Amino acid sequence: MSADVRARHHKEALVANVYYEADCDRSLIANRKVAILGYGSQGHAHALNLKESGIDVRVGLREGSGSRAKAEAAGLAVATIADAVAEADVIMVLLPDTEQAEIYAEHIEPNLSDGDALFFAHGFNIRFDLIEPSAGVDVCMVAPKGPGHLVRRTYTEGGGVPCLIAVENDATGGAKALSLAYADALGGARAGIIETTFTEECETDLFGEQVVLCGGTTELVRSGFDTLVEAGYQPEVAYFECLHELKLIVDLMYEEGIAGMRYSVSDTAEYGDLTRGPRIIDDSVRETMKTILSEIQSGQFAEEWVAESKSGRKNFHALEAAGHDLKIESVGKELRAMMPWISAGKQSVQDASGGQG
Ligand code: NAD
Ligand code: MG
Repeated sequence: MSADVRARHHKEALVANVYYEADCDRSLIANRKVAILGYGSQGHAHALNLKESGIDVRVGLREGSGSRAKAEAAGLAVATIADAVAEADVIMVLLPDTEQAEIYAEHIEPNLSDGDALFFAHGFNIRFDLIEPSAGVDVCMVAPKGPGHLVRRTYTEGGGVPCLIAVENDATGGAKALSLAYADALGGARAGIIETTFTEECETDLFGEQVVLCGGTTELVRSGFDTLVEAGYQPEVAYFECLHELKLIVDLMYEEGIAGMRYSVSDTAEYGDLTRGPRIIDDSVRETMKTILSEIQSGQFAEEWVAESKSGRKNFHALEAAGHDLKIESVGKELRAMMPWISAGKQSVQDASGGQG
């Protein structure tokens, strides 16, 4: 790509179409029958938001699901996954990524008809060819850029979570307009909808959560906390410094960007940031980021995770349990109990949705 083309590309990217309510034709989803498969973090939010947007929605759950009572108590119609798919013509798959392929083969595919639309909230199963829908089915994505409980909470507050949409297969010629309509009914058009591809959404989503949002941040916080505690400082002081205050700094970045955050902190903090930050996240860290990205792109990560899940998640559970035993968690629990306002506005996802039922 010449510098000229690159510049133009960049400019186009900067003015990329962001769709709002006026760009969406809600009737396209209002005329359909929607099945929401799963009632977990995303499932409960999609089902309830769509219902309150006037959409004909039913929830598909496995036999004996613990979520059935919760969904019914919320006024939702509940069916088996097979029946929900057969009855509906828009099917949103909100089951765990590692389980989707098996459930698809057994309960979804036999009940799909040409002209139906199959929706996902993450590109994982389509990008890595774990699910290969037939050519007669629209394959669409509406991926909220936020956790399920916020998709629900912001909607009830009159707002919404920004969404990515994508079309992998446009069998009917109306897949994009239908995706916009779905995202609108979910509340996403209030915040903004951006079009992407299954590949871009999937690879950037996995990269973000591994390198920056979850993996990178938790290890940065933990390492900072451990360094201070090992040097003899009080764990409580280390907790406030390395974990609690992170939110305040991130809020400033969220509201005003990096420069805005730097404007608000002291000159001393800013000089330390500018001169020490690149020593922590140095070239070797950037190299590792590239390696992790290539593991995502090659499908190596997806293969490892699906195999780990299929063999009982032993390593996953061991790592998760080890995380619970950390000093930073016990110290944090005590300190947060003294700041009840922190958890006062928080809604338990476990309560709002069906959890792992
Ligand atoms: P979840 O684990 O919270 O919920 C999954 C649901 O599937 C639950 O109702 C569970 O009971 C049910 N389930 C689990 N195993 C099942 C099985 N074998 N058969 C039938 N039902 C089963 O999942 P989630 O986090 O809501 O994720 C759903 C999808 O949304 C995934 O594709 C995920 O990548 C995507 N997504 C999630 C978030 C998020 O905030 N959690 C954000 C964006 C996209
Ligand atoms: Mg059907």
